[in-house]
Order: sequence, then C-alpha cells, then structure tokens
Amino acid sequence: MAQSPKNHLDTRLMQLGLAPFDPDTQSAPVSVPAVRTSTVRFKNLEALSQAARRWRDGERAATYGRAGLETHAALEQVVTELESATHSFLLPSGLAGITLTLLALLKTGDHVVVTDSVYGPVRTLDQQLLAGLGITVSYCAGTVDAIRQAVRPETRLLYIESPGSLLFEMLDIPALASFARDHKLYLATDNTWGSGYLYQPLTLGVDVSIIAATKYIGGHSDLMLGTVATNNKDLALRLRATHYAMGYSVSADDAWLALRGVRSMPLRLREHARSALQVCEWLAEQTETKQIFHPAYPQDSGHTLWQRDCQGSNGMLAVALDITPEQARCLVDALALFGIGFSWGGFESLVQLVEPNALSSHSYWKAKPWQVLRFHVGLEHINDLLADLAQAFEKARTIS
Ligand SMILES: *Cc1c(COP(=O)(O)O)cnc(C)c1O
Repeated sequence: MAQSPKNHLDTRLMQLGLAPFDPDTQSAPVSVPAVRTSTVRFKNLEALSQAARRWRDGERAATYGRAGLETHAALEQVVTELESATHSFLLPSGLAGITLTLLALLKTGDHVVVTDSVYGPVRTLDQQLLAGLGITVSYCAGTVDAIRQAVRPETRLLYIESPGSLLFEMLDIPALASFARDHKLYLATDNTWGSGYLYQPLTLGVDVSIIAATKYIGGHSDLMLGTVATNNKDLALRLRATHYAMGYSVSADDAWLALRGVRSMPLRLREHARSALQVCEWLAEQTETKQIFHPAYPQDSGHTLWQRDCQGSNGMLAVALDITPEQARCLVDALALFGIGFSWGGFESLVQLVEPNALSSHSYWKAKPWQVLRFHVGLEHINDLLADLAQAFEKARTIS
C-alpha cells in the first residue's frame, strides 16, 4: 500500500506495519504474525553474506533471532514514524531503554546532567551502574539556569523527562535543546508521557527519545517493552552497537501485542485525556484540594508550555490534598474502581499514594505538608469514576 505523507498520523498508524502480500497468492493477513524464532536459516551462503553486508551498512538485516524478524521490524517502523525518527530500537523494558541510552552516549570520565523530576529508578541506575563505570551524575531543576550551573567541561549529556514523573512538570524542551546545542551536549528525553503521539521531542530538538511502551503504546497492562528513537545517524550507530553488545532481545509476542495496542492509542488517549480533565474539575471543587498537577488543566503551572508544545494529553494527574496521612490512606483504600498500584497507560484506573520521600528530590515540589495522590484515569465510564471518588472522599472525611 502506498504511503501518503499527507495523511494524518492517526491514518498512518492504521497503515504501517501491515503484513506484505504473498507473491503466490497475492493476499496477506491484515496483522503481521508474531514471528517467533531464535535464529534465521539462509538458502545459501551468498544470502547469508548479503544479510551480513546489509547489517554492516547500517540496515536492518537479521542473521540471528535476537534482533527480531518481521514483527519487530513492523513495530520499529511504527515507532520510527511516531517519533519522527530515522532509527528506532526495541528493548525488553522502558528502563532498559534508559540504560541503553546512557551506556551508548557516555564513557568513563564523562558527566551527565539529569533533571530532578525523572523517573525514580534512574537514580538506582546511576548509583548501581554509572558510578562503577566512572560516570558522574548531577541532578538539578529542569530550567536552563539550573542546568547552566550544573554543566562542567566533561559534561556530555543532558538527560530529561517532560512532563516529569509524579507531578508532570513541563520543561521548555526547545530552550533546553538550544542550550544543549550551544554547549555541545547531547539531549535525551524520556517521552513515555507523550508516547510519540502527544508531542514529538525529536522535532523540538532532542537527540534521543525513550518510551516505556509498557504504558500507552501497549495500552492493556499486558506487556513490558521499551523503545529508543533518534534522527542522528552517528547516535543511531552507537545505540545499535550498544544494543547488540548488551544482548537486548524482545519476544515476538510482546512486539505483536505492542503493534496491536498502538493502533488504538490515539483513540484511547483522547478518552483518557477527556476523563482526566473531568476528574481535575471535580477535584478542584473539593475543599481539601490544594493543587492539581495535569498540564492540560488550565490552572497547572505548565499549561502555557503544554499549549505551545503538545497536541493532546493523557490520563495522568496528581493532586495535593490538605488531609492527614491517615485520611489519605483511608481515601485510597476506599476507592473501588482505582486499583492501588504503580504503572499507568493501561485500560484501567490506578491510584498511587505518593511517598513524601519520592518528592523530596523534586525541586518542582514546594515541600508543603500535603498528601499527594497520583491517578491514572482509565477507560471506565466517567460518571462511575466520579462517584467512586466522591464516596472515598466522604469516607475519609469521617476520620480526623
Ligand atoms: C514506567 C516508566 C518507565 C519504565 O518503563 P518499564 O517498561 O516499566 O521499565 C520509564 N519512564 C517512565 C516515565 C515511566 O513511567
């Protein structure tokens, strides 16, 4: 099927990564099968040499199962398109994508500046892995001024996440990209919130974009997967070599589930976003509510940046409540439709009682004595979700 670059991304998402026609029957299944194999068999030695040559030339050519075959290639094509990239890589988890990026771009003696609202486990990666390799890490607020003060002569990379984890702090990516260019730093971002649909970091000047496809791309809480995308040819070669050396491999079944999930991502995101905004409006009317964190909500402090850089929103929000820790626990336990759990991006609503410790390293959090709840607003009917919140708030009010 011919691709028209003029079609909307929603349309292109329906056309990418389809199974090719069989030359004999001139027919094809709509969905690419999950091609499970641990290795590749060649008809003759010349065919093997040809595949090896193509690999050396930087093309996608599998001579062994670890790289994945048609299912993986189809998903890579979709991710490359979503990210407006030239190259993309699949990993067994989102965190593996972060590890790949840091290991591919940094070496002993290098320094990386990390904005302090990044996904929590990045700090474990820093302490457990990077420190041992002689790579140093500084954390700072996500502003150009703070980053300027953290940069050293040996800084090679600026690693960010926008909007940030837990409180969805919007960063000014074009400004950070221009700073990175001026200081000859690479800029890498965690794009899980946007998932290649809500904004395109690479077109805003980022060099490497990482997505936990575990979340909205998969969309059904049934797989773990990461993606890394770039439009820089040198970086693509470095990422590819490190990806190979690390032995990363993704099951064909998981790649297949992600391909299946991503087709409905635009539709799901619109519904998640619509309901999340209604939850924000409901929360705003409760006397306990002190602050709502959701960039698409007009009162969020990142709303102007969100309007400038994003084309949509999702089901993630946080709220700061002036209640006691006991009331917060009571409220969370009383919710029936919001499962208590980490992660997000699936069909189901989730709630997380945010540990004050988790926020103490975020300069965006102004250290108020409030209780913070993070919600993933799922695809349940909004009236049921609001009723569930109302009964849980009522219950929490009975204790003090
Ligand atoms: C979940 C998440 C990750 C990690 O993804 P996994 O697939 O769970 O390893 C990374 N970044 C963000 C922002 C996340 O929410």
